[in-house]
Amino acid sequence: MKKFMMILIVLLVLVGCGKQEVNTVEAIQKRGELILLTEATFPPFEYASNDPSSVDGVNGVDIEFGKALADKLGVTLKVVDMDFDSLTVALQAGKGDIVAAGMTVNPERSNVVDFSNVYFDNGLYIIVNEDSEIESVEDLTNKKIAVQQGTTGNDFVDKLEDVEVLSFKGMVEAGLAVLNGNADASVMDVLTAQILVHNNPGLKLLENSVVSEETAIAVQKGNESLLNEVNLLLSELEESGQLQTWFDDHFDALLDQ
Ligand code: GLN
Repeated sequence: MKKFMMILIVLLVLVGCGKQEVNTVEAIQKRGELILLTEATFPPFEYASNDPSSVDGVNGVDIEFGKALADKLGVTLKVVDMDFDSLTVALQAGKGDIVAAGMTVNPERSNVVDFSNVYFDNGLYIIVNEDSEIESVEDLTNKKIAVQQGTTGNDFVDKLEDVEVLSFKGMVEAGLAVLNGNADASVMDVLTAQILVHNNPGLKLLENSVVSEETAIAVQKGNESLLNEVNLLLSELEESGQLQTWFDDHFDALLDQ
């Protein structure tokens, strides 16, 4: 019995320690700072830039959104750039308040974070070299495919049979591996693929998407107050056309760079 009680106490302490406090709107306002977690190799959503409009060296549609959300809450914005596959874990641990990283909604992620309404209808595409014989996903058999680690593009190619998956920390890096001849193809999100192909003669984007996806902002599970503010702001920005303007402006600014 004594032993059982001891085990129970240890378990309760462990559960208590593991329970992360939620960064509610009130907590963020008390702190005076909104912390946005992202991964800055995903233009036009986020990219490294020293433009004066950047925050902590990062610019893009998600950063614009973060600035607008911080304004709405009356706090300053801090942007933390980290590996893509660390984002949901960092959010869960309370190291940030939102993940704004062009993140696709999927069941695995929805188990550990809460997603906002969708703010971009996305699709994954294949990029290849101009002279490549690859025309569709079926032609990827026995080929080397570059992807960004931990992304839905990575998940997609992991499920293909007889392919060699090369995973990179950054999405731009994955695309450039095709250009350099280190990979035969790369699977990535539409806008980033369009920018990369436009800026790197020699690369080609295959016409059809391999899968459609939806992009949203993530908050800690149960952070209803913040999720509510995020969703309200997203619908305001959609209605006013501001969100589309950000997509257009950042996309155009990134071409020919
Ligand atoms: N949309 C993709 C995903 O969520 C890639 C996002 C990114 O690289 N920032 O996995």
